[in-house]
Amino acid sequence: MPVSPPAGSAVPHGDHNPHHGGIVMMKGDDLHYEVVLDPSGREYRVYFTDAVREELPASVAADVVLTLTTEAGALVIPSQAGIQSLGV
Ligand SMILES: [Zn+2]
Repeated sequence: MPVSPPAGSAVPHGDHNPHHGGIVMMKGDDLHYEVVLDPSGREYRVYFTDAVREELPASVAADVVLTLTTEAGALVIPSQAGIQSLGV
């Protein structure tokens, strides 16, 4: 199991741990986003961070579309209200 440096590390991509209990993914070299599903399945939040996991404002994204793929097919959930970020 890979060992990540402590949160707050200044090493780019040194921290891929979820900060909000979700799943962290990368877009390009300098954007991370964490998708957190509400337990009810009715809403989700996306938190954006930069390469060293500093929080970024939700305005870094023009739009967010969540696509869930199940055995029954793809369920696309466009959301403006779902775009959230800390400290904004
Ligand atoms: Zn990364």
